[in-house]
Amino acid sequence: MFNLKVAAIIAAAGLGKRFGEGLRKQFQPLSGKPLIVYSIERFEESELINEIILVVPKDSIIYCQREIKDKFQFKKITKIIPGGKERQQSVKMGFNSVSSETDVVVVHDGVRPFVTARMIDEVIKESLNTGGAIAAIPVKDTVKKSSTKNHVEGTLLRDALWLAQTPQAFQYNVLKSAYEKTENDGFLGTDESSLVERIGIRVTLVAGSQTNIKITTKEDLLLGELVLKEGTRLLDNDQYDHGENITQSERY
Ligand code: C5P
Repeated sequence: MFNLKVAAIIAAAGLGKRFGEGLRKQFQPLSGKPLIVYSIERFEESELINEIILVVPKDSIIYCQREIKDKFQFKKITKIIPGGKERQQSVKMGFNSVSSETDVVVVHDGVRPFVTARMIDEVIKESLNTGGAIAAIPVKDTVKKSSTKNHVEGTLLRDALWLAQTPQAFQYNVLKSAYEKTENDGFLGTDESSLVERIGIRVTLVAGSQTNIKITTKEDLLLGELVLKEGTRLLDNDQYDHGENITQSERY
Protein backbone atom coordinates (compact mmCIF):
# COMPACT_ATOMS: atom_id res chain seq x y z
CA MET A 1 0.00 0.00 0.00
CA PHE A 2 3.13 2.14 0.20
CA ASN A 3 2.90 5.15 -2.14
CA LEU A 4 -0.45 4.00 -3.48
CA LYS A 5 -2.43 6.97 -4.82
CA VAL A 6 -6.15 6.64 -4.21
CA ALA A 7 -8.80 9.09 -5.36
CA ALA A 8 -12.37 9.04 -4.06
CA ILE A 9 -15.23 10.22 -6.26
CA ILE A 10 -18.31 11.14 -4.27
CA ALA A 11 -21.31 11.10 -6.60
CA ALA A 12 -23.83 13.62 -5.37
CA ALA A 13 -25.18 15.21 -8.52
CA GLY A 14 -28.64 13.63 -8.38
CA LEU A 15 -31.55 16.01 -8.55
CA GLY A 16 -33.48 14.05 -5.93
CA LYS A 17 -36.76 13.70 -7.81
CA ARG A 18 -37.93 10.95 -5.43
CA PHE A 19 -37.37 13.24 -2.48
CA GLY A 20 -39.76 16.07 -3.26
CA GLU A 21 -39.34 19.84 -3.25
CA GLY A 22 -36.85 21.93 -1.31
CA LEU A 23 -33.20 21.41 -0.39
CA ARG A 24 -31.72 18.52 -2.38
CA LYS A 25 -31.60 15.23 -0.49
CA GLN A 26 -27.80 15.07 -0.41
CA PHE A 27 -27.76 18.34 1.56
CA GLN A 28 -30.73 17.66 3.87
CA PRO A 29 -29.83 17.88 7.55
CA LEU A 30 -29.26 14.58 9.33
CA SER A 31 -29.03 15.38 13.04
CA GLY A 32 -28.27 18.95 12.04
CA LYS A 33 -25.44 18.18 9.60
CA PRO A 34 -25.83 17.99 5.79
CA LEU A 35 -26.25 14.35 4.75
CA ILE A 36 -23.28 14.42 2.38
CA VAL A 37 -20.89 15.49 5.14
CA TYR A 38 -21.04 12.08 6.85
CA SER A 39 -19.57 10.15 3.93
CA ILE A 40 -16.99 12.84 3.13
CA GLU A 41 -15.82 12.61 6.77
CA ARG A 42 -15.13 8.88 6.43
CA PHE A 43 -13.05 9.41 3.27
CA GLU A 44 -11.25 12.45 4.73
CA GLU A 45 -10.26 10.35 7.79
CA SER A 46 -9.03 7.37 5.76
CA GLU A 47 -5.26 7.21 5.56
CA LEU A 48 -5.53 5.47 2.21
CA ILE A 49 -7.34 8.35 0.49
CA ASN A 50 -5.27 11.08 -1.15
CA GLU A 51 -7.94 13.21 -2.76
CA ILE A 52 -11.70 13.57 -2.91
CA ILE A 53 -13.58 14.74 -6.01
CA LEU A 54 -17.06 15.96 -5.18
CA VAL A 55 -19.55 15.74 -8.06
CA VAL A 56 -22.65 17.85 -7.45
CA PRO A 57 -25.43 19.62 -9.37
CA LYS A 58 -24.06 22.68 -11.18
CA ASP A 59 -26.17 25.08 -9.12
CA SER A 60 -24.84 23.59 -5.85
CA ILE A 61 -21.12 24.14 -6.47
CA ILE A 62 -20.90 27.45 -4.58
CA TYR A 63 -23.00 26.04 -1.73
CA CYS A 64 -20.68 23.03 -1.49
CA GLN A 65 -17.57 25.16 -1.52
CA ARG A 66 -18.85 27.38 1.34
CA GLU A 67 -21.15 25.19 3.38
CA ILE A 68 -19.40 21.84 2.98
CA LYS A 69 -15.70 22.16 2.09
CA ASP A 70 -14.89 25.44 3.90
CA LYS A 71 -17.25 25.04 6.86
CA PHE A 72 -16.19 21.48 7.69
CA GLN A 73 -12.55 22.14 6.70
CA PHE A 74 -12.19 19.20 4.37
CA LYS A 75 -8.58 19.26 3.21
CA LYS A 76 -8.74 16.36 0.79
CA ILE A 77 -11.48 17.79 -1.46
CA THR A 78 -9.42 18.91 -4.44
CA LYS A 79 -12.27 19.58 -6.86
CA ILE A 80 -16.00 20.26 -6.78
CA ILE A 81 -17.38 19.67 -10.24
CA PRO A 82 -20.79 19.57 -11.92
CA GLY A 83 -22.26 16.16 -12.72
CA GLY A 84 -24.19 14.87 -15.71
CA LYS A 85 -27.74 13.78 -16.42
CA GLU A 86 -27.17 10.16 -15.36
CA ARG A 87 -25.16 8.85 -12.44
CA GLN A 88 -22.71 7.10 -14.76
CA GLN A 89 -21.95 10.40 -16.51
CA SER A 90 -21.42 12.15 -13.17
CA VAL A 91 -18.91 9.55 -12.02
CA LYS A 92 -17.16 9.63 -15.40
CA MET A 93 -16.77 13.41 -15.04
CA GLY A 94 -15.25 12.78 -11.62
CA PHE A 95 -12.95 10.17 -13.15
CA ASN A 96 -11.78 12.71 -15.76
CA SER A 97 -10.80 15.03 -12.90
CA VAL A 98 -8.69 12.71 -10.75
CA SER A 99 -4.93 13.33 -10.56
CA SER A 100 -2.91 11.78 -13.36
CA GLU A 101 -0.85 9.54 -11.05
CA THR A 102 -3.93 7.86 -9.48
CA ASP A 103 -3.63 4.06 -8.98
CA VAL A 104 -7.06 3.27 -7.51
CA VAL A 105 -10.39 5.07 -7.78
CA VAL A 106 -13.08 4.60 -5.11
CA VAL A 107 -16.61 5.58 -6.04
CA HIS A 108 -19.18 6.33 -3.36
CA ASP A 109 -22.79 7.54 -3.36
CA GLY A 110 -22.98 10.83 -1.51
CA VAL A 111 -26.32 9.71 -0.07
CA ARG A 112 -24.84 6.70 1.80
CA PRO A 113 -23.77 8.35 5.04
CA PHE A 114 -22.97 5.17 7.00
CA VAL A 115 -20.03 3.87 4.99
CA THR A 116 -17.32 2.69 7.38
CA ALA A 117 -13.51 2.94 7.41
CA ARG A 118 -13.42 -0.86 7.21
CA MET A 119 -15.41 -0.95 3.97
CA ILE A 120 -13.23 1.73 2.37
CA ASP A 121 -10.03 -0.14 3.37
CA GLU A 122 -11.30 -3.50 2.15
CA VAL A 123 -12.56 -2.43 -1.27
CA ILE A 124 -9.27 -0.66 -1.94
CA LYS A 125 -7.15 -3.63 -0.81
CA GLU A 126 -9.24 -6.19 -2.70
CA SER A 127 -9.22 -4.09 -5.88
CA LEU A 128 -5.44 -4.45 -5.94
CA ASN A 129 -5.84 -8.23 -6.25
CA THR A 130 -8.54 -8.59 -8.86
CA GLY A 131 -9.00 -5.16 -10.44
CA GLY A 132 -12.21 -4.23 -8.67
CA ALA A 133 -14.12 -4.74 -5.41
CA ILE A 134 -17.52 -3.60 -4.17
CA ALA A 135 -19.41 -3.53 -0.90
CA ALA A 136 -22.49 -5.76 -1.06
CA ILE A 137 -24.93 -7.61 1.18
CA PRO A 138 -26.73 -10.90 0.61
CA VAL A 139 -30.39 -10.73 -0.39
CA LYS A 140 -32.64 -11.89 2.48
CA ASP A 141 -36.01 -11.78 0.77
CA THR A 142 -37.14 -14.08 -2.02
CA VAL A 143 -36.90 -12.15 -5.26
CA LYS A 144 -39.54 -12.37 -7.98
CA LYS A 145 -39.12 -11.37 -11.59
CA SER A 146 -41.96 -9.71 -13.44
CA SER A 147 -42.26 -8.05 -16.79
CA THR A 148 -45.86 -7.00 -16.26
CA LYS A 149 -47.30 -5.04 -13.38
CA ASN A 150 -49.05 -7.75 -11.39
CA HIS A 151 -47.77 -11.13 -12.47
CA VAL A 152 -44.81 -13.19 -11.37
CA GLU A 153 -42.72 -14.47 -14.23
CA GLY A 154 -40.28 -16.42 -12.12
CA THR A 155 -38.35 -16.71 -8.88
CA LEU A 156 -34.64 -15.93 -8.81
CA LEU A 157 -32.14 -18.17 -7.05
CA ARG A 158 -31.62 -16.28 -3.82
CA ASP A 159 -28.31 -17.89 -2.91
CA ALA A 160 -26.69 -16.18 -5.84
CA LEU A 161 -28.12 -12.71 -5.24
CA TRP A 162 -26.41 -9.74 -3.63
CA LEU A 163 -27.39 -6.12 -3.20
CA ALA A 164 -24.62 -3.91 -4.51
CA GLN A 165 -23.72 -0.90 -2.43
CA THR A 166 -20.91 1.61 -2.54
CA PRO A 167 -17.97 2.06 -1.92
CA GLN A 168 -16.74 0.43 -5.11
CA ALA A 169 -12.99 0.50 -5.88
CA PHE A 170 -11.21 -0.14 -9.16
CA GLN A 171 -7.68 0.05 -10.43
CA TYR A 172 -7.45 3.22 -12.51
CA ASN A 173 -6.65 1.44 -15.78
CA VAL A 174 -9.47 -1.06 -15.27
CA LEU A 175 -12.08 1.69 -14.93
CA LYS A 176 -10.51 3.55 -17.86
CA SER A 177 -10.90 0.49 -20.11
CA ALA A 178 -14.47 -0.02 -18.86
CA TYR A 179 -15.36 3.54 -19.84
CA GLU A 180 -13.78 3.09 -23.26
CA LYS A 181 -16.05 0.11 -23.88
CA THR A 182 -19.17 2.00 -22.80
CA GLU A 183 -18.19 4.89 -25.05
CA ASN A 184 -18.08 2.49 -27.97
CA ASP A 185 -21.31 0.63 -27.28
CA GLY A 186 -23.42 3.17 -25.35
CA PHE A 187 -24.05 0.94 -22.29
CA LEU A 188 -25.57 2.75 -19.32
CA GLY A 189 -25.24 1.07 -15.92
CA THR A 190 -26.47 1.96 -12.46
CA ASP A 191 -23.09 1.33 -10.85
CA GLU A 192 -19.44 1.24 -11.98
CA SER A 193 -19.09 -2.47 -11.24
CA SER A 194 -21.53 -3.26 -14.06
CA LEU A 195 -19.22 -1.46 -16.49
CA VAL A 196 -16.13 -3.26 -15.22
CA GLU A 197 -17.81 -6.70 -15.28
CA ARG A 198 -18.37 -6.20 -19.02
CA ILE A 199 -14.66 -6.11 -19.75
CA GLY A 200 -14.13 -9.48 -18.07
CA ILE A 201 -12.67 -8.29 -14.77
CA ARG A 202 -13.60 -10.35 -11.69
CA VAL A 203 -15.09 -7.94 -9.20
CA THR A 204 -14.71 -9.06 -5.57
CA LEU A 205 -17.58 -8.85 -3.08
CA VAL A 206 -16.66 -7.25 0.22
CA ALA A 207 -18.99 -7.20 3.23
CA GLY A 208 -21.22 -4.16 3.04
CA SER A 209 -23.69 -3.46 5.80
CA GLN A 210 -27.43 -3.36 6.46
CA THR A 211 -26.89 0.12 7.85
CA ASN A 212 -25.03 1.34 4.76
CA ILE A 213 -28.35 2.58 3.40
CA LYS A 214 -28.91 4.85 0.43
CA ILE A 215 -31.06 7.76 1.49
CA THR A 216 -33.49 8.21 -1.36
CA THR A 217 -36.82 9.14 0.22
CA LYS A 218 -38.01 11.08 3.28
CA GLU A 219 -38.65 7.74 5.02
CA ASP A 220 -34.98 6.83 4.49
CA LEU A 221 -34.01 10.07 6.20
CA LEU A 222 -36.01 8.99 9.28
CA LEU A 223 -34.22 5.63 9.16
CA GLY A 224 -30.96 7.53 8.91
CA GLU A 225 -31.78 9.44 12.09
CA LEU A 226 -32.43 6.11 13.81
CA VAL A 227 -29.12 4.65 12.65
CA LEU A 228 -27.34 7.74 13.96
CA LYS A 229 -29.19 7.62 17.30
CA GLU A 230 -28.65 3.91 17.81
CA GLY A 231 -25.39 3.99 15.84
CA THR A 232 -22.92 1.89 17.77
CA ARG A 233 -25.48 -0.66 18.92
CA LEU A 234 -26.89 -1.15 15.41
CA LEU A 235 -23.43 -1.41 13.90
CA ASP A 236 -22.35 -3.86 16.60
CA ASN A 237 -25.32 -6.05 15.81
CA ASP A 238 -24.75 -5.81 12.09
CA GLN A 239 -23.35 -9.16 11.15
CA TYR A 240 -22.04 -7.77 7.90
CA ASP A 241 -19.92 -5.06 9.43
CA HIS A 242 -17.25 -7.12 11.09
CA GLY A 243 -15.11 -7.50 8.04
CA GLU A 244 -15.21 -11.30 7.83
CA ASN A 245 -15.51 -12.80 4.39
CA ILE A 246 -19.09 -13.52 3.52
CA THR A 247 -19.80 -17.06 2.45
CA GLN A 248 -23.08 -18.41 1.19
CA SER A 249 -23.48 -20.67 4.24
CA GLU A 250 -23.34 -17.66 6.56
CA ARG A 251 -26.22 -15.99 4.85
CA TYR A 252 -29.16 -17.40 6.75
O1 C5P B 1 -29.90 7.74 -8.64
P1 C5P B 1 -29.21 6.88 -7.63
O2 C5P B 1 -30.07 6.60 -6.46
O3 C5P B 1 -28.52 5.68 -8.17
O4 C5P B 1 -28.06 7.83 -7.06
C1 C5P B 1 -26.95 7.37 -6.34
C2 C5P B 1 -25.99 8.52 -6.17
O5 C5P B 1 -25.60 9.02 -7.45
C3 C5P B 1 -26.56 9.69 -5.40
O6 C5P B 1 -25.62 10.11 -4.43
C4 C5P B 1 -26.79 10.74 -6.46
O7 C5P B 1 -26.66 12.09 -6.00
C5 C5P B 1 -25.73 10.42 -7.48
N1 C5P B 1 -26.09 10.86 -8.83
C6 C5P B 1 -25.20 11.66 -9.56
N2 C5P B 1 -25.56 12.12 -10.80
C7 C5P B 1 -26.75 11.82 -11.34
C8 C5P B 1 -27.66 10.99 -10.63
C9 C5P B 1 -27.30 10.50 -9.37
O8 C5P B 1 -24.10 11.95 -9.07
N3 C5P B 1 -27.08 12.31 -12.52
